[in-house]
Amino acid sequence: MRNIKTKLIIAFGTTITVLLLVMVLKSLYSKKAEKIQNEIDVRIEPAIEILDAYRSYNNELYLISLNKISTAKSDKLTNRMKIITEVELPHLNKMAFDLVATFHTDNPEFSAFSKIIGITDNAIINVKDMFIILQTKNDYAKIEKLTVSSSLLRDKIALQFNEIDHLVSALQFDFNQENKIKRAELSKQLVNLNKIIILSGTVAILISLLVAYRTIRSIVNPIKILQEGAKRISEGDYNYRVALNGKDELNELGDTFNTMADSLSNSFEHINSKNKELEQFVYIASHDLQEPLRTISSFSQLLDKQYNGQLDETGNQSLHFISQATSRMQYLVKDLMDYSRLGSDKYTELIDCDELLLGVQNDLSELVKDTKTNLVINKLPEVSGYKTSLGLLFQNLINNAMKFQNPGVKPTVEVFMMEDPVFWKFGIKDNGIGIAPQHQEKIFSIFKRLHTKKAYEGTGIGLAHCLKIVEMHGGSIHVESEINKGSTFYFTLAKKLLDG
Ligand code: ADP
Repeated sequence: MRNIKTKLIIAFGTTITVLLLVMVLKSLYSKKAEKIQNEIDVRIEPAIEILDAYRSYNNELYLISLNKISTAKSDKLTNRMKIITEVELPHLNKMAFDLVATFHTDNPEFSAFSKIIGITDNAIINVKDMFIILQTKNDYAKIEKLTVSSSLLRDKIALQFNEIDHLVSALQFDFNQENKIKRAELSKQLVNLNKIIILSGTVAILISLLVAYRTIRSIVNPIKILQEGAKRISEGDYNYRVALNGKDELNELGDTFNTMADSLSNSFEHINSKNKELEQFVYIASHDLQEPLRTISSFSQLLDKQYNGQLDETGNQSLHFISQATSRMQYLVKDLMDYSRLGSDKYTELIDCDELLLGVQNDLSELVKDTKTNLVINKLPEVSGYKTSLGLLFQNLINNAMKFQNPGVKPTVEVFMMEDPVFWKFGIKDNGIGIAPQHQEKIFSIFKRLHTKKAYEGTGIGLAHCLKIVEMHGGSIHVESEINKGSTFYFTLAKKLLDG
């Protein structure tokens, strides 16, 4: 197994190498095609053109010579002869000479071309001679000059032009053949080149895609596994561990992740056992405190009964304070015991919240009636959780919503739910006295109250109960509130609740 850097280098390296190979193959094949094209452009086509020109100039010159003998003096013929012999044919010879210079001397085309150039030179001289002989009008009268010219035309010029014509025809045939062959070869090369490009391009793309796919998969898969691990642990599944094989950085990250999960689950277990110890302690302490409290309470009652009328005002008042404080202490100790016992039921069940709220409404019916509360309970979902605790949670929040009201105000309380993929979300909204921002967190602490017992009854443990219950359900609770406008308590319960 390689590390991520090496994997990426290999992926890019393979792609680039394959592309380079394709380019090399392409340039090899296109070089061959270029060579053939070059031969056609530089040698074959110019040769064919030059040979065509030879044929047409020579034919023209021969005809001009014939006409010169049979026709009377014509300046037009003489001028055309001059142009051909002094400009066009010498220029053609020069071009032929330059072309032939590029041929190999063993090449039969070399000697044939050289011959054409030589004979053409001679033919030019002979034609010019013939024109010189027949220079003036008077010369025409002289039969002797005509005879010389005619024999020059017949013996030399005609033969030379004939020979040139033969040579040109033979060469033309050769070059045309060669042209055909080379063009066929060129088109074959081009087809091959096309095939090579398509084939090697396809192979290159496939290889690159395969390498890229494997590289991406080898990076993305471990990330997905780690993501799932983080999700499971954040949902409270502390025993979840990721399984990654290999030695790259992501696998190392997987090992570190598992080590972190180990220490997290150890800490969680430790905290859990400490919590249980503490709850046990609170339970035992509150349980044991009840006994002396009961004794104080019954003895103060006895005192009140037996010494009724014998004590002065201060004595009676003190006795009254003692019994009041004792009963308050008894409430507090009982609340404390309830708090420590919360969560002792270990098994969750499916709870129909509509039904649960009917029960809560029933328990609170007296208070609802007394306070003339408008209690609105919307449609609620089915959740899994600890039934008694959840009932207590709704009851505490609705009870507070009705209780913390300004005098003379008719309470309006609404229970509702909100959609969320991970949690069940609930809200309990009231139109009560509200809570100042600086107290909105503190009120969830045990025995924290913002008012005197005289203003609003209570021990200050209700919201601590609520916090504990939502935490037992893998959720959270908070309040949004404005003084004198009302409060909304929001709480969540995990949809995937893990037992224990
Ligand atoms: P208790 O109701 O016994 O006082 P709680 O723990 O239920 O104790 O509440 C703590 C404090 O939070 C209350 O004393 C009160 O000041 C504040 N509180 C709770 N609910 C509300 C509410 N709906 N509106 C205004 N204040 C509230």
